[in-house]
Amino acid sequence: MEQTLSIIKPDAVAKNVVGQILARFENAGLRIAVTKKIQLSRADAEAFYAVHAERPFFADLVEFMISGPVVVTVLEGENAMAKNRELMGATNPKEAAEGTIRADFAESIDANAVHGSDSAENADIEINFFFAQRDIV
Ligand code: GDP
Repeated sequence: MEQTLSIIKPDAVAKNVVGQILARFENAGLRIAVTKKIQLSRADAEAFYAVHAERPFFADLVEFMISGPVVVTVLEGENAMAKNRELMGATNPKEAAEGTIRADFAESIDANAVHGSDSAENADIEINFFFAQRDIV
């Protein structure tokens, strides 16, 4: 069974749509292996998005990710990474396909509701960033 990491970002948590987003994962056949609501520190956000450190939007991205709590989830299922990316929709909600999480819940490319791992290798790294193996059942 493949695992992938999802983050429900501060905008979607503030909108109180955590349950609606988790239900979309379940309705698509993904299983919630573990989930938790946490407040990221600046150091957490900088480390998590280190691959984007040189990008012009890095400072805004970090600021946004620490602006409120997030919900971090390990999703499990067949093709979990690709399935989650499909449910999320394009990074820019204006370009996101109808019925995707970002089309329905996101406002802008900064406040775009969800994060999802974009490769099996990154999924492993991102899951280990937030969870110990014994937490994942
Ligand atoms: P994702 O995998 O679809 O989340 O997209 P990326 O990994 O490319 O980017 C990570 C996050 O950085 C995105 O979800 C956005 O929140 C943010 N981001 C990406 N590109 C831009 C951009 O051009 N401008 C701004 N402001 N934020 C961006």
